[in-house]
Amino acid sequence: MTASSNPSYIGRFAPTPSGHLHFGSLVAALASYLDARSVGGRWLLRMEDLDPPREMPGAQAAILDALERYGFEWDGELVRQSERHGAYAQVLDRLFSQGLAYACTCSRKQLEGYNGVYPGLCRNAGHSMENAAIRLRVPELVYGFEDRVQGSFAQHLGREVGDFVIRRRDGLYAYQLAVVLDDAWQGVTDIVRGADLLDSTPRQLYLQELLGLSQPRYLHVPLIVQPDGHKLGKSYRSPPLTASQATPLLLRALRTLGQATDDRLCHASPREVLDWAVTHWNASLIPRTLTLAEAQLR
Ligand code: GLU
Ligand code: ZN
Repeated sequence: MTASSNPSYIGRFAPTPSGHLHFGSLVAALASYLDARSVGGRWLLRMEDLDPPREMPGAQAAILDALERYGFEWDGELVRQSERHGAYAQVLDRLFSQGLAYACTCSRKQLEGYNGVYPGLCRNAGHSMENAAIRLRVPELVYGFEDRVQGSFAQHLGREVGDFVIRRRDGLYAYQLAVVLDDAWQGVTDIVRGADLLDSTPRQLYLQELLGLSQPRYLHVPLIVQPDGHKLGKSYRSPPLTASQATPLLLRALRTLGQATDDRLCHASPREVLDWAVTHWNASLIPRTLTLAEAQLR
């Protein structure tokens, strides 16, 4: 186990067990791991198992197994969000009783035609929490930050996001709430994750501000997109990571992150590839975007 000599950097990888790890998750895991280890920081692992109905049976074990086979070692105990409901409930109750959040009983049908921006229909309705979604009131303000790869990113919460769900109607806690509470609770200083979460970040910044939590640094690694900039569909998505391909896929993930590799690494073990990559890590080489064609050439 790598001894952590730099407690001022705490990173994490936070997979959702709705399926196996695929190449995109490997790229995110690798970037967060290397960014942490290259400065002697800690690297934590958190299973984001908030949504049992969407969990794939066996996915948690498969994810842990894949991470181990690819040479990743995490610090401390694995944290599962399914064991953190008490903490989420406490904050949710407080936000609700302070009037910062409210209950929403709108049906999916009622919300059609608003482009995903909640129009505030239940804002002043005074519904009780039972059998209702809980939404956080957002201010009519811009929340933005400086991403280490993507540059400045900002959203006007009122106009672009709207009051957002922090507990679903079926009682499940929302990712936005859980991720903010857990990153703070685990002392995470640096969030390195896929750029699909870039547009969740302003909501998370607002929650951090509201709850008096410190704001971590952010680095969003590029998504691999189609030539027209659209997300890759299911048919493009790579298969689950296989153990036999660990070294070549790690090398490909490194190249996807704009990092140098070395021909001699082709015959190295996954752990040796990671150790080499830690000493050569340079986050400023990470590209902002990557098309599928560019990714396949790497
Ligand atoms: N659980 C999320 C995912 O697998 C990642 C959350 C995060 O890194 O903030 O997409
Ligand atoms: Zn409503």
